[in-house]
Amino acid sequence: MKPNKFKSKLYRKNNNTCHGAQLGWDYTPLFKYLLSKVGQPWNNVYKDVRSRLNTIVPIYWMVSTNKNKDNLLGYIRVGESTYYSSLYVDEMGLLQYVDKSIDHTTLEPTCKCCTHTFNGKRFTKKYVEKSILDREFVSNLSSTISI
Ligand SMILES: [Zn+2]
Repeated sequence: MKPNKFKSKLYRKNNNTCHGAQLGWDYTPLFKYLLSKVGQPWNNVYKDVRSRLNTIVPIYWMVSTNKNKDNLLGYIRVGESTYYSSLYVDEMGLLQYVDKSIDHTTLEPTCKCCTHTFNGKRFTKKYVEKSILDREFVSNLSSTISI
């Protein structure tokens, strides 16, 4: 597919490495653009983004064309620590959030070494070492100490 020369591209070379893994392309501009188009007719959005990408595959990482959103996860994870809302196309053909209740305050980091973000915002929850300390044990311990 030939990207449209007259519009800015929605992808760039990926320079981030985390846990030794490196993805070839960074589609952050695409994901941010799709988020900005929630509520708009999908056909128009699709035509626009298609011409600005080197492949249409990452569109479907974020957007499900399945009208039944009940079986869809409310977020996608890109790489180790970057999360975005997952989107779907509703009966009216409009782009919508799968689950609006998920945001950077509800998700939990999966490791200590990365900065976890959701739609570009840093997670507010702190990472908890689950393999060493059971969460319940930690909360019992802290309530014991405070007495
Ligand atoms: Zn990490």
